[in-house]
Amino acid sequence: MAPKTPRKPSKKRSGKKAPGRSVRQSLDKARKGKAAALKPPKKRLAADRKAIAGAIPQWTPQEVEEAFRRFQAATAVPKGELLHSDPYTLLVAVVLSAQATDAGVNKATPALFAAAPTPAKMVALGEDKVRDLIKTIGLFRTKAKNVVLLSQKLIDEHGGVVPRSREALEALPGVGRKTANVVLNMAFGEPTMAVDTHIFRIGNRTGLAPGKTPLEVELKLLEVIPAKYMLHAHHWLILHGRYVCLARRPLCEKCLIADLCKWPGKTVAA
Ligand code: SF4
Repeated sequence: MAPKTPRKPSKKRSGKKAPGRSVRQSLDKARKGKAAALKPPKKRLAADRKAIAGAIPQWTPQEVEEAFRRFQAATAVPKGELLHSDPYTLLVAVVLSAQATDAGVNKATPALFAAAPTPAKMVALGEDKVRDLIKTIGLFRTKAKNVVLLSQKLIDEHGGVVPRSREALEALPGVGRKTANVVLNMAFGEPTMAVDTHIFRIGNRTGLAPGKTPLEVELKLLEVIPAKYMLHAHHWLILHGRYVCLARRPLCEKCLIADLCKWPGKTVAA
């Protein structure tokens, strides 16, 4: 009797990544919800602690390139979600968005910008009326004061125009490094990286850019992301954090970069 030929292991059962899988195949697989599963909540918390301590592997330059190639393939030109019509209304919207959601800011700004679309009109509207129009947004008292003060400063020192300079932006009331980075990126097309809560989490959790402070994460991201992706990298990462890599329960099963991400909270890599 002839000896039995051993059966080849099926690719489907092995669960291993097929060599040479194209970006399109990875995207298709991720969209079908088979990218990665999660460990139980306690282990996910432990994984986040490990990641934030910088105790997970670093990405290779090829992996970073691949991740951003996929983000670009999925959304060529990502858009921010804050309503605005020009650099001034963008600046005000970003100032209002500190410790608030974009959706919450967007509920208040149409009425505010209808009443005061320019620095001069904002100053004329006055702090009390601005406060009334933005009272649904957290920290509205301080923000109303800052919006009027920064509008006055734009008139006094910059001819009523938003300056294209980090120093000048950060000298405006209520404007810090993150706000300046958003304005430089969105209004002036500068390759900056504004690190908000989502990007801080993703940088640490994935191992892409570990850091104890937003500035550390920002500098690391600027170092590792290829220059050709920098213009849109901020929005790709923010949208990824807002809709996929959620704080409590990341949707690893739908994640485009699940096979590249180093987070130890996953159970199955793509
Ligand atoms: S980047 Fe993707 S795989 Fe990694 S933790 Fe976030 S959702 Fe999960």
